[in-house]
Amino acid sequence: MPAYIRITLLYALFGIAWILFSDSIVDMLFSANPELYSAVQSAKGILYVLITSFLLFCLIYNEDRVLKEHEAEFRMLFMNNPQPMWVYDIETLRFLEVNDTAVSVYGYSRQEFLQMTIKDIRPASDLSRLTDNLAQRRRSIEHSHAWRHQMKSGEIIHVDIVSHQIHYQSRDAVFVVAIDISERIQLESERIKNQSLHAELEKEIVARANRDRLASMVSHDLRTPLAVIMSSASMLERYNARFDLEQRVRHYQKILQQSKQLNEELEEILLWLRSEASTSTFQPVMTNILEFIKSILIKFTLPDNPQRVQLISEEQRLLAEIDAHLFQRVVANLVSNACKYSADNTHVDVILTRKAEQLELIVRDEGIGIPESNLEHLFKVFYRAENALNVQGTGLGLSIVKEIVELHQGTISVESIEGEGTSFTVNIPLLQPVPEPH
Ligand code: ADP
Repeated sequence: MPAYIRITLLYALFGIAWILFSDSIVDMLFSANPELYSAVQSAKGILYVLITSFLLFCLIYNEDRVLKEHEAEFRMLFMNNPQPMWVYDIETLRFLEVNDTAVSVYGYSRQEFLQMTIKDIRPASDLSRLTDNLAQRRRSIEHSHAWRHQMKSGEIIHVDIVSHQIHYQSRDAVFVVAIDISERIQLESERIKNQSLHAELEKEIVARANRDRLASMVSHDLRTPLAVIMSSASMLERYNARFDLEQRVRHYQKILQQSKQLNEELEEILLWLRSEASTSTFQPVMTNILEFIKSILIKFTLPDNPQRVQLISEEQRLLAEIDAHLFQRVVANLVSNACKYSADNTHVDVILTRKAEQLELIVRDEGIGIPESNLEHLFKVFYRAENALNVQGTGLGLSIVKEIVELHQGTISVESIEGEGTSFTVNIPLLQPVPEPH
């Protein structure tokens, strides 16, 4: 029961008992003697005041003692608390009290603290955030995170703050607990640093592995067409006079075909190296895709091409923003792969359609196909399917194609059945035609 109710109740009970019983007792004892009776009545009044004053004194004194004991306990908890704590004046922001931990952590003596305001333990750059925060102070317990406090030595620590508005020494004040979280922040930033170091390391490992594979590819695979060229050239040099026209033409054709192959592979390697070094520039311009693809297919539709390549489209005009220099690699690579991995006289279809706001380009062949288990790795750099190893190639083309398609905000997918054929589908956003004015 609160002290003010207890004191009032006791006082009221005593007063009522006095009124009810004191007169009847005096009447009973002194009514026979009227002179003594009036003296006893006066003495009774004085006695009433003395007893009630004493009663009040005892009650209030006792409450005061209990309060002081509580205060001493709280003060001990405050002073000896392992967390830095203080109380500051809400108007002047001056420290009114600080505990021992605050003194030892922050490096200021108690006297110094009591001359300072809470602004003096903030780095200058945090003062505006402090002012904003003080402007929206609430009465309830408030947790605010990631503050920076400056020690007397200049060192900065990171703290979480728990605060509560109180009444202290007849002023509106705020009680504050500062929880040092510097170690946590340090661990967190080290974790982030480690993560990015780890990512860089992984990137470096992949780059190194790619360089190694490139080196071994250049030293092995590019030697094959070179060996063919060199052997045909030396045969021609040595036996030119003995060869008939047909034999000579056969060797010239071999040289020409292998040189073309070598040239294509070198171009792929260069393109990949350039994109690895991120020097490639992406400059899309509005292009009529239909015309663009026709111009690329010219070299594949010549009569000497062993496969029958045809463009299938019902569209008249398909506009998209593409970087022609890069995007021609996509079409040329998909079509040349379709030819390379197909037998002579089979069909290669290049199908162009409009799908909602997308351009869909399908390159479909009737070639060797790709084993199902190889499909998921197909766009990885240097990856070659297991059934293609006896066909000349670098394993670079599709990874470049995918990169270029993604630069155009597009997607690429593949479907294939081994022994039956393969179909690559590219989707990129189309430009919407501007409506004709009425
Ligand atoms: P490569 O120089 O080896 O052709 P790519 O990156 O262009 O390199 O292709 C990667 C692999 O994907 C090829 O080695 C081949 O195994 C497979 N591939 C690509 N296109 C086809 C296709 N049209 N038919 C069958 N396999 C294909």
